[in-house]
Amino acid sequence: MATETAALTARVKEAALKRGALVCGVAPAAAFDPLAPDGQRPGDLLPGARSVVIVGGAPPRAGDWISPVAEHLESMGTTQRIEPVGRAVAVFIEEELGYYALHVPGGVGRGDRAFLSLMLAAELAGLGSRSLAGPVLHPRYGMLYYAAVVTTLPLDPDRPLETPVCPAPSCVEMWEREGTTPCLAVCPAPRGGCLDGRLENGRFVRTAYKRDLCGTRVYTNWIGSFQKVLEAALDEPDRDRRKMLLYGSLFTRTLWSITYAGQSQAQCFECIRVCPVGAEYRTKK
Ligand code: SF4
Ligand code: SF4
Repeated sequence: MATETAALTARVKEAALKRGALVCGVAPAAAFDPLAPDGQRPGDLLPGARSVVIVGGAPPRAGDWISPVAEHLESMGTTQRIEPVGRAVAVFIEEELGYYALHVPGGVGRGDRAFLSLMLAAELAGLGSRSLAGPVLHPRYGMLYYAAVVTTLPLDPDRPLETPVCPAPSCVEMWEREGTTPCLAVCPAPRGGCLDGRLENGRFVRTAYKRDLCGTRVYTNWIGSFQKVLEAALDEPDRDRRKMLLYGSLFTRTLWSITYAGQSQAQCFECIRVCPVGAEYRTKK
């Protein structure tokens, strides 16, 4: 039985990698129970859930990260590229293995609440650990996008990482030298940024993350900006000003982002641009 589960786990992971995932891990569905709020547990989405398969990948390319044109990262997003991989894994599990498989929708259920925390799923599956900057960082690739599949298929789970990825050794050195880290230095909460924290015994202690402020800087060309400009245009009595709002670059780029991609359009991620985790992978000739 144990060998059979191991073989099934290997097949699912191989299928995920073949379909475009950079990384794939498995978390036991029950591991979410003490950690996730009511309504956001695998069993809430799929009765009889036993495993959660997490696929990660589709990061911005190395060229994207070094482009000096801010609008480039602001108006392109790659989250939607990982969504079909999650969906394909769900199809594989149902069609080839005969178990229920639910691809967790990437959007929000009620309000701004996700259907399932993909960050928690990635951590439980050992794909990375949370960082002072916010995202789960993979030891080799740094920030990745994730999709999850909840399934009744019993699989061998992975374990969370024993050693957190953040802070990186060079960040510990920087902290000892300058009392800050690259991410804290680029977006300092005391000076109008979003992040604050400190390192203690080589581990990070996060003291502030201004989620709302960060949200306005990350989702610059997404649903929020669409709603805002639309509201302003509807309230604008002057015909020329209304036209400027609707045909201006913010609204136009927002429409490009929304219509040509999935969710999570636009980026700020200056804190990730300076993060040493994944820097080697992001460095090309
Ligand atoms: S994504 Fe941008 S605004 Fe948000 S914490 Fe990072 S640097 Fe700051
Ligand atoms: S720069 Fe990256 S590794 Fe260093 S403290 Fe910030 S998030 Fe962690």
